[in-house]
Amino acid sequence: MNPRILFALACAATFTPSLHAAPLRAGAATVDITPQIFPINMPGGFSANAAESAHDPLHARALVLDDGTTTIAMVVVDNLGAGPDVLDEVKALAASRTGMDPAKMLISSTHTHSGPSLNTRSAEAAAYWMLFVEGTADAIIKAHAALRPAAFGAAAHPLPDEVFNRRWFLKPGKMPPNPFGKLDQVKMNPGTSSEVLDRPAGPTDPDITVISVQDTKRKPIALFANYALHYVGGMPKGQLSADYFGEFARIMPSRMGGNESFVAMMSNGASGDINNIPFGVTRPPREPFEQIRIVAQKAADTAWLAQRKIEKHQTDVRLGTRQREITLRYRRPSAEQVAEARAVLVVKDKDAVENLPRLAQNYARNVVAAVEQPEETIKVQLQAMRIGDLAVCGIPFETLVEIGLDLKKRSPFPQTMVIGLANGRHGYLPTPEQHALGGYETWLGTNRVQEDASVILTQNLLEMLAELHSAPAP
Ligand SMILES: [Zn+2]
Repeated sequence: MNPRILFALACAATFTPSLHAAPLRAGAATVDITPQIFPINMPGGFSANAAESAHDPLHARALVLDDGTTTIAMVVVDNLGAGPDVLDEVKALAASRTGMDPAKMLISSTHTHSGPSLNTRSAEAAAYWMLFVEGTADAIIKAHAALRPAAFGAAAHPLPDEVFNRRWFLKPGKMPPNPFGKLDQVKMNPGTSSEVLDRPAGPTDPDITVISVQDTKRKPIALFANYALHYVGGMPKGQLSADYFGEFARIMPSRMGGNESFVAMMSNGASGDINNIPFGVTRPPREPFEQIRIVAQKAADTAWLAQRKIEKHQTDVRLGTRQREITLRYRRPSAEQVAEARAVLVVKDKDAVENLPRLAQNYARNVVAAVEQPEETIKVQLQAMRIGDLAVCGIPFETLVEIGLDLKKRSPFPQTMVIGLANGRHGYLPTPEQHALGGYETWLGTNRVQEDASVILTQNLLEMLAELHSAPAP
């Protein structure tokens, strides 16, 4: 008899009876993907920012689940935003070594702003690209090799105090011109002055959602968390860091009583307009890395409280996945916008440049790049997964929180996790209503696709979730 079936029979006495051919199996692994060659550029800001060392290590963290019919991987990498090109290489390599289907691998970036570039423009950068591909694939391969009988649960608990909507309406007369010389209705990161601030332009999502996986003796195998918080920042200068995502992963084993094989990971939710700045309040000064530690500890406490809500971890867990390639139109500037951008770019005199609106030449370059860019459309990858009664959505954008909240509300599943920067990174994804208000996230260059893209992607994800929800048991 097949050893898997023998094992299932042997376990049937101690497990909840399984509805499937095999009980759930799970494996998790972590691989260090810290760059080895310095300096290396950190592309999180508007100007070049070279790291001379790593403050704390960067990792690829993988959870692989198998229900006897379907095998899925959920992977989190410490990076600002890995593109589909490099992630497709990772998936192909991992697939060749595990036999897994690349379309059933969800790889998301944490969006740490103190992570290294991923490109092949120099020999040093190409060396890191290779290290990233091999390390991230290795995490999946090791997690797959560690598959063992397991039980699963999911729950959420709120941590409202560390998330703030960063788009604000300002008091009359306080709005500075945007880089295009126009007045937006809302401003990103408007400071903390009560003279300037009127009201936030959107909500927050306070929930930390967790996937908890245990072995048959109830020892934790992995905890996969998700929080709609852009990042924390406040790093020592010139150093790489995994931000609070890394610190969360280091603290969580002590919360969960996990041994050295236990893997915790924090993925980025729909956090395009959510950050850790308490607008309207003056926070006392912090040492470098101190606020990261504070947020990580609170997030770890909240994740612990969330997993405590799981009444019973299940072994008869159905897995399912859907993946769609969606074609979106690139946003094109108008002839007037192009003419204005070219006029801004001919300004060379230092004083005259300083009199331009802030970032005017950066965004003028974006406008010219958008008109010169030869392709009309871009294909983006959407993923939806089902793990028992939990739905997982993967969106390859910096997804604004309104979109995540909307998906959670309209999902047919009792719990839904929305992961941003999943399987790629194609700029910001605002809703059409946010496009009308303007602000950083909507500026051409920061956002690159048609203004109703969020409506199209949400509709597709809801269809994919409906398919997963209604699919008959195998
Ligand atoms: Zn961002």
